Amino acid sequence: MSGPLRRILVVDDSQTIRMQIREELEQGGYEVVEAKNGLEALIFAASPTPPDLITLDIEMPKMDGFETCRKLRETHYARFFNKSEDYRVSIIFITGNDTLEDRNKGFELGAVDFITKPFQKGEVLTAVNKILNPPEAQSGIKALVADDNIVARKIASLCLSREGIEVFEAEDGEQAYDIIRNSGQRMDIVLTDLVMPNMDGMQLCRKIRQDLGKQDIPIIVLTAMSDLSGILDVFKVGASDYLVKPFSKEELLARINVHIERSQVNRQLRKTIKLLKEANEKIEKLSILDPLTGCYNRGYLNKQILMELKRSTRYEKPCSIILTDIDHFKQVNDTFGHQVGDAVLIQFVKNLQDIVRSESDWIARYGGEEFLIVLPETTVSNAEIVAEKLRIAVSSQPLRCGDHQVSITASFGVTGFDPDAKIPAITLEQMLKAADENLYRAKHDGRNRVVSSFL
Ligand code: GH3
Ligand code: MG
Ligand code: MG
Repeated sequence: MSGPLRRILVVDDSQTIRMQIREELEQGGYEVVEAKNGLEALIFAASPTPPDLITLDIEMPKMDGFETCRKLRETHYARFFNKSEDYRVSIIFITGNDTLEDRNKGFELGAVDFITKPFQKGEVLTAVNKILNPPEAQSGIKALVADDNIVARKIASLCLSREGIEVFEAEDGEQAYDIIRNSGQRMDIVLTDLVMPNMDGMQLCRKIRQDLGKQDIPIIVLTAMSDLSGILDVFKVGASDYLVKPFSKEELLARINVHIERSQVNRQLRKTIKLLKEANEKIEKLSILDPLTGCYNRGYLNKQILMELKRSTRYEKPCSIILTDIDHFKQVNDTFGHQVGDAVLIQFVKNLQDIVRSESDWIARYGGEEFLIVLPETTVSNAEIVAEKLRIAVSSQPLRCGDHQVSITASFGVTGFDPDAKIPAITLEQMLKAADENLYRAKHDGRNRVVSSFL
């Protein structure tokens, strides 16, 4: 053990028992001091070197364990422990007469554990270790224990906190529900009694699953033998498992370990699935985009434009396309180099995107420096106006590409169909051919111009 020795005060009127506990704890690396009765214990607790933990016999002459515990819990004693006033030294009751009433009383007084005499070799050391050196493995795990019976609640919560689990306690279902809903803490497991005032275990299960939509959190129902007949119903409301009271610590721990592990695996799985889905979406998106300019690629164009055409003919809406090609682009490459040429293409597409309606119109790279703009529900004359706007925007200002200002122009071929014109069954090929012919004419007629025609 690292750090200063931890000090345990062993209070018992039997010297044999004190010796037995001392031997065990000293072997475990603790410093042990002894007190024969409650009064001595109080004096020691008020000394400058107070204990980190106290084991307390219940039946002792003069002042019994309960009375001693009550006194130790008074605030002025807390001060003697050099701690803040709400500090409570951990107290383990060691009793030869373990009754439910005694446990009730002890837990109400703030005991953290009970050990029954005669105890097994190593039992006291294990209990002390678990309180003073909670295992790391389970730390970070949060559990909620809901039970209106304080003894049952404490037994369950003790088992868990000794494993290093942070435990929240609730006296009924309503309190439990509020803790889960309001604490903002992710609860890793819920243990709940079945019969409780205000809100019972069944209602709690149902509300956690339905109202809060928490499907992952394991819920273990703690039930008395007498309630076992209807136990299968708890699964209908979403419980993960049940345990019959009184259960052994080992059984409880084994069950919760299984459930916590499973829910962690589930959560991890869900996370992985989400990441995969995001990655897939990204890949899907990339597969339809042109890597240089970020507009759609030819593959997307081929599929999507057919859909646009079908939709337009079915709903008798107009649809137009603009095919544009940068004029003398070869010269840009020759003058400034290929890299600047790339930057020009990027800026050119940005210019187009700024002008077309982003909700409906879309742009695809048709070839090297040739782009197709699709304008659903747009008549040819309106598309011609858009093309003219694009032409002016491109030609009126040089593109800023790194250190260079590059002046370019582009030519535009516009076509489309109007449902009013009642032209039957236009094919995609016809449409693209017409746009290409108009673009060729624009080039032929001197470039930097728009040529348009109806289909
Ligand atoms: P026109 O006015 O008749 O269209 O003349 P042009 O020079 O633009 O046409 P041409 O077809 O002769 O040349 C197109 C050039 O575009 C040639 C090709 O290297 C270049 N190009 C095509 N794709 C890219 C690209 O991704 N990056 C760069 N930098 N250049 C490209
Ligand atoms: Mg060109
Ligand atoms: Mg070209």
